[in-house]
Amino acid sequence: MVSRIIPVEAFDLIIFGGTGDLARRKILPALFKRFCAGQMPSPSRVIGVARGDLGDAGYRDEVRAALKEHLDVPGDDSAISAFLQQIHYVRVDVLGEDGWQELADMLEPGRIRAFYLSVGPSLFGDIARRLQAAGLADSESRIVVEKPFGHDLDSARALNRELAGYFDEGQIYRIDHYLGKETVQNLMAVRFGNMLFEPLWNAQYVDHIQITVAETVGVGGRGAYYDRAGAMRDMMQNHLMQLLCLIAMEPPAKFDPDAVRDEKLKVIRALEPVQPHHIIRGQYTAADGVKSYREDVGNDRSKTESFIAIKTHVSNWRWAGTPFYLRTGKRLKARDSQITVVFKDAPHSIFGPDSGRHNNELTIQLQPDEGITLDVTIKEPGPGGMRLIDVPLDMSFAEALGPEADAPDAYERLIMDVIRGNQTLFMRNDEVEAAWAWTDPIIKGWEARGDVPKPYDSFTNGPDDASLLIRRDGREWRSIGQ
Ligand code: NAD
Repeated sequence: MVSRIIPVEAFDLIIFGGTGDLARRKILPALFKRFCAGQMPSPSRVIGVARGDLGDAGYRDEVRAALKEHLDVPGDDSAISAFLQQIHYVRVDVLGEDGWQELADMLEPGRIRAFYLSVGPSLFGDIARRLQAAGLADSESRIVVEKPFGHDLDSARALNRELAGYFDEGQIYRIDHYLGKETVQNLMAVRFGNMLFEPLWNAQYVDHIQITVAETVGVGGRGAYYDRAGAMRDMMQNHLMQLLCLIAMEPPAKFDPDAVRDEKLKVIRALEPVQPHHIIRGQYTAADGVKSYREDVGNDRSKTESFIAIKTHVSNWRWAGTPFYLRTGKRLKARDSQITVVFKDAPHSIFGPDSGRHNNELTIQLQPDEGITLDVTIKEPGPGGMRLIDVPLDMSFAEALGPEADAPDAYERLIMDVIRGNQTLFMRNDEVEAAWAWTDPIIKGWEARGDVPKPYDSFTNGPDDASLLIRRDGREWRSIGQ
């Protein structure tokens, strides 16, 4: 199968925070891969912006080092050298007035320009204002912002208002990199491109849905930020909520940005408030040479959760009565992100009580490998009567698609979508606010009660209470890391 590269027009991508961790680890490697795939047509440029006095040559050295460090398969030196010819640097302290004119002089009128704000959200407003003052917020301009988009509903609204003062909503790209994953989009293709699943995709046939995003890492060097955020703000409010939306939404009339986002918004608005006893919070403890959460963040009285499990419901006709179990945490047993749709048992077993319980499960695996499996019940091979077993129908696509199955990194896809002006995989202002409106009362409840997360052993499944949350309903979590 021939790889299909959809051409894009020449563009300028300006990375504010061009020397930061995100730029080095994700944005620049993604751009290099797109360059190698022929999607950075000359005279496209990447312009790094930061406070240091680097110049083009100094910045190119940094970019070369970052590519060598962070690409799984580093490109050969000639490819990197060719890429670096399209890399430039401008020194700007975004809180000051210097450097903006130089940046403005570099940018070609009429060329697509995307400003990637790879800096903390406290700088978004200043950058947007100064871009406008420099005459750079025109109709060719797009602005890309990273999470965290707000800390609560009020701060998210304030950020939205601030950006809306300088850019139209159609120019603002709020990144949730989970939406850029190949399999997440495949979930929509599987749901809406096949007749097979959609008729069963409702409370009548689906027993429950589980979403797990498990990490083995601790909070690393992000302790100060994380201790103010916790798993609820850092993961649940955005990534898990977005995955839930794609699973639960109605079919949009067409695959266009607002039609898709309208349907996602309806799901968030239909989420029931969560009962306090349907939430389990946890904090990892020290183990095997790793520190505890409290040691990691340097706060021995921290009440912030590094793990959260929630049972919730989507109150609409399709999902009435179907529980959605969501969990995410750090220092868990394995790095493993998956969504599982667990279908109901057959209403009557013709094979008798000894055949056991069997049901179909559709699992969308996002990390570490991407793929989709459908568990189906078959007869166990061999003589000795009718014994049933569940076996996976593997839709990892690798054999069928060959090299096409090598999915581009989420950042590669999302950056190219920005250049093409396609907002389908980006969060709209009202979606973000609705997600915070659901999250805020939960967090306020913990604060009012002085809720303290349960300790859990590092490299396990999280607190035992999270198992009880689902076991009380006669169900089990899928195991992490299998
Ligand atoms: P970082 O601290 O490593 O980098 C920040 C960058 O901003 C640096 O290049 C710094 O020079 C620049 N900067 C700071 N103040 C500036 C100023 N006044 N003028 C000009 N430049 C200035 O941060 P990061 O980890 O790269 O994260 C950037 C943003 O992306 C943050 O909002 C973060 O929450 C978000 N994010 C990061 C990651 C990640 O993996 N690092 C993941 C998701 C979201």
